[in-house]
Amino acid sequence: MDAGLRERLLGIVGPQGLVDDAAAERYLTDERNRYHGRAAAVVLPGSTRELAAVMALCHAADVGMVPQGGNTGYCGGATPNASGEEVLIVLSRLNRVRAVDPLSGTITVEAGVVLADAQRAAAEHGLLLPLSMGSEGSCQIGGNLSTNAGGLAVLRYGTARELVLGLEVVLPDGRIWDGLTALRKDNTGYDLKQLFLGAEGTLGIISAAVLKLFPMPAARETAWLAVRDLEAACALLRLARQVVGDVVTSFEYVTRPSLELALAAMSRLRDPLDAAYEHYVLLECSASGATGALGEAVSGLFESALEAGLAEDGVIAATGVHRAALWALRENVPAGEKAAGGSVKHDVSVAIARLPELAARAAAAVAAVAPAARLSVYGHIGDGNLHFNVLAPAGADPEAFRAAHGEAVSAAVHGAAAALAGSFSAEHGVGQLKRDLLAATESSLALEIMRGIKHVLDPKGVMNPGKVL
Ligand SMILES: Cc1cc2nc3c(=O)[nH]c(=O)nc-3n(C[C@H](O)[C@H](O)[C@H](O)COP(=O)(O)OP(=O)(O)OC[C@H]3O[C@@H](n4cnc5c(N)ncnc54)[C@H](O)[C@@H]3O)c2cc1C
Repeated sequence: MDAGLRERLLGIVGPQGLVDDAAAERYLTDERNRYHGRAAAVVLPGSTRELAAVMALCHAADVGMVPQGGNTGYCGGATPNASGEEVLIVLSRLNRVRAVDPLSGTITVEAGVVLADAQRAAAEHGLLLPLSMGSEGSCQIGGNLSTNAGGLAVLRYGTARELVLGLEVVLPDGRIWDGLTALRKDNTGYDLKQLFLGAEGTLGIISAAVLKLFPMPAARETAWLAVRDLEAACALLRLARQVVGDVVTSFEYVTRPSLELALAAMSRLRDPLDAAYEHYVLLECSASGATGALGEAVSGLFESALEAGLAEDGVIAATGVHRAALWALRENVPAGEKAAGGSVKHDVSVAIARLPELAARAAAAVAAVAPAARLSVYGHIGDGNLHFNVLAPAGADPEAFRAAHGEAVSAAVHGAAAALAGSFSAEHGVGQLKRDLLAATESSLALEIMRGIKHVLDPKGVMNPGKVL
């Protein structure tokens, strides 16, 4: 990079928008500590205009740009490469809630708004932004949309993509595409926003979005149930939808080893049941209209599940504090894995009916290549999505285990998903971690279309180079 570029960046964003070398370190390593990059500059634009000027400058100078939100992504998509030539563009200062429209049920937010802050802004108007995940205290709307994040309420409300009405995007050359519409019906030509949702910053930088809001649930019922096995968990999902209807909001699965990792990492967490079981479901139902019967319906479901032999034990949250404690068990599984030295993570999905077969196949395939490895299996089974994570054997060095067996273990798990017509990336994206996997498994026609779209929007290839494609 020519020395003058840094000066010109400084001229656009001012001293508060250009990070010095010492402070830059925290932006250059990914959430999982797998990727360590270097950057010619770490820039934090304070407005869409500044962002556009930064991008136009980098584009003209043929400098690669890497967007970063909360840096909680699991695939290294927000980490620059090791060349030290790319500019890292951090969106944290684009953090204004521009508007909430209670009648239309929309919120207009800038890309750097932290997800939990956007939820709070909606709640102040009695409305629900249903996107929710364990990282919500630090991940940002721009990152959520660029990864098409899933999370804990997809079953009821869909993935991030399904919550978006409009986008404002800065293209690689600095032009601003104003697609910030709040229209719920708009069939005027191609739906351009879809290109940027899930694109992981390879086509442009999302600077703002209009998101759908929903009535705030007046009643919530949350149950932690020990179930016989994964097959029983899937049968319970069906029963829940028959008995309680479309108010089933979350249906999460946790195995005993995953629970134990969370319990070991967080001393404030408690196993809510007296005995230990191998399989658990965290079920949440919520309703905003006529709510009277919800508690009875969930109690009835629990009894039916016990009678049918699907559930073996369980507890229904009695208070909000109790509910939060149950959710903390599920949400702290990733932290538990991290505290145990990390895992070889997988984010696979199949049709829900095939989940038990997926788990069995993947376990057998992993045992064949790493017999002593420990499994931590949990996930959003209401969406057919398992996090089938593999840890080093007890007492073994996690880093050495990953280096020796990580590749074979991942091939085993991804092979099991592929054999069942599943996906190797249900919700975490591709980034740099799974780029080769995408190239190896996607059809040549699909890859040709993706590369064509990339070429139209980013002919110079300066937008998040080396990621996704
Ligand atoms: C404890 C924990 C729990 C998690 N749970 C879930 C879960 O349940 N479901 C789930 O889907 N994920 C989950 N994640 C993963 C992660 O939080 C999500 O992928 C999240 O959407 C990433 O947001 P971010 O702001 O941190 O993005 P980053 O990590 O900063 O970036 C992710 C990608 O988006 C790009 N990007 C960021 N901002 C923009 C922008 N404004 N415009 C264009 N591109 C951009 C980056 O270049 C990168 O490619 C979890 C992570 C943790 C640590």
